[in-house]
Amino acid sequence: MNQHPPFFEQVNRYFDRAAALVDYPPGLLPQIKACNAVYHVSFPLRRDDGSIEVIHGWRAHHSQHRLPVKGGFRLTSHASEDEVTALAALMTYKCALVNLPYGGAKGAIKIEKSDYSEAELERIIRRYTFELVRRNCIGPGVDVPGPDMGVGAQEIAWMHDTYLALSHGEVDASGAVTGKPVTQGGVRGRVEATGRGVFFGIREAVDSAELMEKVGLERGIDGKTVVIQGLGNVGYHAGRFLTEAGARVVGIVEREGALYDPDGLDVEAVHQHRAAGGSILELEGTETLEDKDGVRGLEWECDILVPAALENVIREQNAPRIRARIIAEGANGPTTAQASEIMNARGILQLPDLYLNSGGVTVSYFEWVKNLSHVRFGRMERRFRAMAAERMMSAVEDLVDKNFSPERFDEVAVGASEEDLVNSGLEETMVEGFHEIHGTAQEMKIDLRTAAFVNSIRKVALTYQERGIFP
Ligand code: NAD
Repeated sequence: MNQHPPFFEQVNRYFDRAAALVDYPPGLLPQIKACNAVYHVSFPLRRDDGSIEVIHGWRAHHSQHRLPVKGGFRLTSHASEDEVTALAALMTYKCALVNLPYGGAKGAIKIEKSDYSEAELERIIRRYTFELVRRNCIGPGVDVPGPDMGVGAQEIAWMHDTYLALSHGEVDASGAVTGKPVTQGGVRGRVEATGRGVFFGIREAVDSAELMEKVGLERGIDGKTVVIQGLGNVGYHAGRFLTEAGARVVGIVEREGALYDPDGLDVEAVHQHRAAGGSILELEGTETLEDKDGVRGLEWECDILVPAALENVIREQNAPRIRARIIAEGANGPTTAQASEIMNARGILQLPDLYLNSGGVTVSYFEWVKNLSHVRFGRMERRFRAMAAERMMSAVEDLVDKNFSPERFDEVAVGASEEDLVNSGLEETMVEGFHEIHGTAQEMKIDLRTAAFVNSIRKVALTYQERGIFP
């Protein structure tokens, strides 16, 4: 499904649409668009039964206009050079868009994760990391992988440990990979960051009177109906935050089937059931999908559709049948360029992946900064700020000769924890990012995706120009 049409070509079609609206010296736009390098590694895996299997993996460096390059790696059976190249390109544009000082990269290992034991997975990840080290494709100043599909804290911890073992004495070694468990130098808030960012992005969009008038919806999240494809890291957390804000998740589309309930599903219960190894086919309200790619579920009636599983799921074939008014792209590349045009013509608002799922890499950036500075956010000032607030409140009490209630006192006299600071930095990034894109879209009378690409291209181009590489 991810092969037709080629994913990198899809990303480039979006790029070309935006590139046609900006004016740069010859050569600059092709340089931004080209992928700088793709490394293909293959190595033998000894399986638990003693047999040997050859494993294939990739790491793509789309743009080294800034170093390190940054991007997750994924474990999927459909991994390919085209896929990592496209995803690396999206990382370049995403990082530029939300002002992260990185070039774009992506990695993948071509395996169906569930076919391997934990011991086999550990051997695969450690060997893949070793291959990256040998090619200078990992390190806090060159390339910083992070989590993506099928990769969680455990896989990242193996990668981190392997890198530490091979970089003996490198003081910033922990900054070589992000998404680490907190005890290994990770940052609080990273696990839910992408889903939380998706929530902030949707919240900003539905708060815009102009955009909501265009799609014929009321302002605000409260009461909005949502369908989510993929209840993994991104989909589950996005669903959780949307529900907390008053939205109703009426549909969940997973690989094994789909659930629909117009009164709203219990996202937490469905997640817990799947996390314990259950299938959603065992839950009440299950619909059997007509095909395993979830095409039917995507066409369900709702206000907001959140594709949060895989790429190229909204294509020219199903785009005319999509009934959602807003597509909130939690996944990377869920919408083909043709489908995007069809939906633009139908007045469906698309919140593009390169903006909407940038919360993950944003908080990965915070983790990297934490690793390079070797101190937890808030450690130096949290207590000082809480005491300063206490002194200020006591002074006010003396002045007015009245006391705050103990609850009010405790509420105000606090210093920010690491998690508070991370979530606040994430919110700031998503809010600022939305208004930048929306501003460009209004100014140039273009859709949000093209506006996002225009902004990214401008920022990458500026780096090349300021360095004197292009006039
Ligand atoms: P994940 O592995 O945690 O979850 C993916 C979910 O999609 C799983 O529950 C899986 O069962 C489901 N799925 C797979 N195939 C499906 C199908 N055909 N139909 C319906 N559901 C299907 O992965 P994730 O980290 O949540 O990533 C999901 C998407 O978000 C990917 O496109 C990824 O590149 C993107 N993304 C992830 C992050 C991150 O921080 N994890 C950041 C930015 C973007």
